[in-house]
Amino acid sequence: MGYQVLARKYRPQRFADVAGQDHVTRTLMNALSQNRIAHGYIFSGHRGIGKTTIARIVAMALNCRNAVGSPERPTPEPCGVCDSCIEVRQGNAVDVIEIDAATNRGIDEIRELRDAARYSPARDRYKIYILDEAHQITEAAFNALLKTLEEPPAHVIFMMATTEPENIPQTIRSRCQHFSFHAVKFDDILTQLKTIAEQEQVTAEEAALALLAEAGDGSMRDALSIMDQAIASAPMEDGRPVLSSAQIRELMGAVPNAVFERLLEAVAAGQSAELMEQLNLLVNAGHSPSSLARQMSRYLRNALMAKLGGEQTELLQISSDERARAVRTALLFTEEELTRNLQIVLRTFDDLNYRQEQRFHLELGLIKLIHAQRLLPIEELLSGVASGAGMRNTGTPSAPRAAAASPQRPAATPVAKPGPAAPSISPFGSSGWGSGPSMKQSASSSPVAEMERSAPAVQMQAEPSKAVPNPPREPVAFTAIGSQALGYASTTNLTEGALAMAPEPAPAKTAPAIASGAAPTIDSLRPAVGSALVNAGHGSAAQLLGSGSWVLDSASLRIEVPGVGKKMLTLTVNAAAEKIIRLELQRLGAPARFMVVPGEGSVQAAPTAPPLAGSAQEAALAHPMVQRAKEIFNADVRSVVDLRQK
Ligand SMILES: [Zn+2]
Repeated sequence: MGYQVLARKYRPQRFADVAGQDHVTRTLMNALSQNRIAHGYIFSGHRGIGKTTIARIVAMALNCRNAVGSPERPTPEPCGVCDSCIEVRQGNAVDVIEIDAATNRGIDEIRELRDAARYSPARDRYKIYILDEAHQITEAAFNALLKTLEEPPAHVIFMMATTEPENIPQTIRSRCQHFSFHAVKFDDILTQLKTIAEQEQVTAEEAALALLAEAGDGSMRDALSIMDQAIASAPMEDGRPVLSSAQIRELMGAVPNAVFERLLEAVAAGQSAELMEQLNLLVNAGHSPSSLARQMSRYLRNALMAKLGGEQTELLQISSDERARAVRTALLFTEEELTRNLQIVLRTFDDLNYRQEQRFHLELGLIKLIHAQRLLPIEELLSGVASGAGMRNTGTPSAPRAAAASPQRPAATPVAKPGPAAPSISPFGSSGWGSGPSMKQSASSSPVAEMERSAPAVQMQAEPSKAVPNPPREPVAFTAIGSQALGYASTTNLTEGALAMAPEPAPAKTAPAIASGAAPTIDSLRPAVGSALVNAGHGSAAQLLGSGSWVLDSASLRIEVPGVGKKMLTLTVNAAAEKIIRLELQRLGAPARFMVVPGEGSVQAAPTAPPLAGSAQEAALAHPMVQRAKEIFNADVRSVVDLRQK
């Protein structure tokens, strides 16, 4: 007997041997034992997951010579030894007709099939048609088939296997039982590969089989095809082929995931040079930019899933080592960062297909990853820096300098970062929204806040006359947006990522809600709007509005915020914040119309004076947070206000 590929040689012959489709086999076996057989079945799902295999087992079971419950066949499983079973297995049973619908899809073929179906089976109980790739059948041909399905002869059974069940007409689908097959789980594939390796007398590293299983990507057949190839090219030892993970990676042109882990560590640490050097090594080793981008997107996807679902999530169909790796990488980034990184890499991968200079585009894509780390959501930028939450992000991009000075990778060690928590200091505690003990409490509860409390306030400015006054008693407030920071976002084509926090369009102006009860006053509106904003994560908007003066008349609410430019206002009180304000006003029966305008009285910045030695100003300027903020905003510190002296 000639060589048989593994997928055929080890094709399951019993329901029990089919991996990962228990929901299908259980139902089918029940139907068989109760003799409730439908005339049409649709088996749908990805390629290589057992659709035609199960169709054949059903055919075998239906036409098996031995009755269910007989000594030769105690269960609905086919006996596997009678003439009929053997013929189906060998593919030459007269009454089991397999048709590749990809090539026999026309009306003539289907008419022929329909006509032949009228005649009784030649020998066995049923005449069974297995239509592979059934979605390829033309509409006219389906119509020809429909008649047979509407009034099927008792002996005819159709089984349609398809990867695209939605492309089978509803009229057909509604006359069939539909079974949706699952992607085969990593563990199921791995178990099967281990069994086969043993039976084939192949020595295989566990990691090598794990790679094959992963490459199968839910398809048993794909995994087995690569295994075939791997065995064919494997070196022999003591007369047995030996599968190693290195060899399999080479075969697939795959890069070990450790490489991507390292690349992303470099991204997290902001080490552009390191990143480019690693990439250079990979490209020089013959890996194509396109394949690298594809593998990296896969790796990032797994890291994101690990972030979302934890190490044991079903979303990760990889070995336990790789799970641990995905978790390590996930710890380097926030969920938003991982999402953005994946987006960038996917887009880079898309772009590569149309480019001449693939390598440059991949380099550009990877550098974008680093740059994206430096982009802070505006919201966080405005409110987070003060409370220390913002520095969570800026902490990593500060690494390039450190990296340039020392060869180690400081931020590369997987240190769990806190999630994008809301600022620990409520702006209401300190900015006139009402009495709020939150600032004192949170300040003493977190070390970052502790440090801030003892630090003097710093006021930074990118452009003169665009400064915002520090609200009273707020310890540190960065209030400048460097043109650099925003310009940056647009040149790297990442504005949607950076500003994704506020994409929601402002809803159309709604009619004023009917006021119920007492008319709202500014005293009741201010705290309510303020808390609504804070609860929705718009702390800085709340803070800005809290510092403004509110004017309420019967038709509208006008909030004047002094010392703030229009641009700054629209960035802070963005569409999402506006929506929250509007809803809150509506809820309270206030006029739905409101406007936020810049008020009079821009704060004049004090001229820069050299800091006195040992002064609070000097300490503030030397503070790494301040230094980092200067870098982000491309701005200078104009004045330092020590609020403790007030
Ligand atoms: Zn049989």
